[in-house]
Amino acid sequence: MKNLTEVHANLEQLKKTLRDYEYHYHVLDTPLVPDSTYDKLFDELIKIEKLHPELITTDSPTQRVGAKPLSSFSTITHELPMLSLEKASSEEEFSAFFQRTQERLATLGSTDTTFCCELKLDGLAVSLRYEQGILTQAATRGDGATGEDVTLNIRTIKSIPLKLSGDNYPEILEVRGEIYMTHAGFEALNIQLEKQTKKDQVAKLFANPRNAAAGSLRQLDPTITAKRPLTFCAYGIGVVSGDSLTNHPLEDTHYGRLQQLAKWGLPINKWVKQLNQCDAILAYFKEIESERHLLGFDIDGVVVKVNSIALQEELGFVSRAPRWAVAYKFAAQEVTTKLLDVEYQV
Ligand code: NAD
Repeated sequence: MKNLTEVHANLEQLKKTLRDYEYHYHVLDTPLVPDSTYDKLFDELIKIEKLHPELITTDSPTQRVGAKPLSSFSTITHELPMLSLEKASSEEEFSAFFQRTQERLATLGSTDTTFCCELKLDGLAVSLRYEQGILTQAATRGDGATGEDVTLNIRTIKSIPLKLSGDNYPEILEVRGEIYMTHAGFEALNIQLEKQTKKDQVAKLFANPRNAAAGSLRQLDPTITAKRPLTFCAYGIGVVSGDSLTNHPLEDTHYGRLQQLAKWGLPINKWVKQLNQCDAILAYFKEIESERHLLGFDIDGVVVKVNSIALQEELGFVSRAPRWAVAYKFAAQEVTTKLLDVEYQV
């Protein structure tokens, strides 16, 4: 057992390391370590902070989402924050989430345990603002409170409608979703980057489709983004307002809202399922895990969300994530070559 001074020193070192990893991952799009290494250290930090809540500081990586926006873009403040997700990385952890949520719902007087299950796409989150059906603004998640204004770049992505279909959409509608790159697009891009590299130079290639998507979207020159094979999938709704809502209300379930987004011309996830038993969700997870290599793009788990919007609202949020959702992640496929020298056990 370490004394408090040692714990504190370890904690500071751990936070410093995580911040450094986050900066390279979120800001520079060039990760220093595999996600599994980052996740492991992040979990260690959570563990230590749970044991020593008095040592939690507001600048701890556990207290915030993503990273600050790049100063070269103008920034956009999210009216509704773009949060992170609680994680589960084993059957036990997921079952604990299910049970916890079921108990919370019971105290709210509900026996409805319908969850909407979907793929967890491995790209970067954006928020698209439509006014009177026209795409007027797009922002990255950034640190959750403030993102980068990537409107011009987003406008070059062909799967994102510049105008919504139909006419029964809210006057103001924020669509949230993931920008990602398929495996085929990623490979073609790296081949092209290699070809463009002069003979005496080392080609600057992207490490994986996620970094390629982030690096391609966060270009100051939108004509470069336009040439990159980016694609989009909507998974939720942010701010909505306007008189038209009274005549055309939003569906009252998450699943229903996804279908509404699809009707308005937005691409949604085909593998979405409504399930209400823990065993059925575990089976869905296993099925997706075994089929993931056939998808043609990277996913790092499934996201399970309470389906009823009213119950979501009642459950609310903890500091950086909603209580009504969990990211159930696949076991890491990457292999870490070297962990840190410091040992973080207490
Ligand atoms: P997260 O990726 O774990 O979870 C939240 C995000 O999930 C959302 O912002 C959204 O972009 C995404 N998402 C995908 N499909 C979704 C769906 N269907 N519904 C809702 N959201 C969906 O975000 P986080 O908590 O900010 O974690 C950061 C991630 O970045 C982790 O996976 C971590 O490993 C990685 N990371 C890696 C490094 C590194 O150095 N390798 C550094 C920092 C962060």
